[in-house]
Amino acid sequence: DYKKIENVSEMINDVVTLLAPQAKLKNIILLWEQHNGQSVICDRSQLKQVFINLLKNAIEAMDRPGSITINNYLKNNEIYIDIIDEGTGIPDEIMTKLGEPFFTTKQNGTGLGLMITRHILERHGGKLEALRNKTLGSTFRVILPTP
Ligand code: ADP
Ligand code: MG
Repeated sequence: DYKKIENVSEMINDVVTLLAPQAKLKNIILLWEQHNGQSVICDRSQLKQVFINLLKNAIEAMDRPGSITINNYLKNNEIYIDIIDEGTGIPDEIMTKLGEPFFTTKQNGTGLGLMITRHILERHGGKLEALRNKTLGSTFRVILPTP
C-alpha cells in the first residue's frame, strides 16, 4: 500500500464531481457541503474508489428524482462519512451479509463493489455500516480512524 496524509473533503469533492453528470441524468441532487475536512492516512486512489462505489450504488438505487446527502463529520475521535440516499432501500441479503461477493439485484451488476469497499476500509483500520433510513432509502456509513 502507498499511504499518505490526505484530506477527506478533497477526495469526496473529486468523487462528487466525477459522478455529478450521472446523478443529473436521473434528476438527483447531490447535497454535499464542503467543510474543512479531516485528514486521514490512506491510499488516495483506493479510498476514492470506496466513495465512488458507494455514491454509484446510491445513484443506482434511486428510481425517482430526489437527493443524496453526503455528510462528513468527526465523532468519538473517528471520521464518519455518511452517504444517505432516497432509494429503494437495502435488501435483507445485504443487511445480513454486507460485502459478501456476487450478490447483486442489478441486471448488469457484479456484486463486487461492497466487498471491495469493505476490504479497502479494513486495510485502513476502518469499517462500513449499512443502515435503513427511517423514512426512505438507506445510509452507507464509512468510519475511519483519525491520524
Ligand atoms: P452491484 O452494484 O454490482 O450490484 P455492490 O456490491 O455494489 O454490487 O452492491 C450489491 C447489492 O447491494 C446491489 O445490487 C443492491 O442490491 C444492494 N445495494 C448496494 N447499495 C445500495 C443502496 N444504496 N440502496 C439499496 N441497495 C443497495
Ligand atoms: Mg455497486
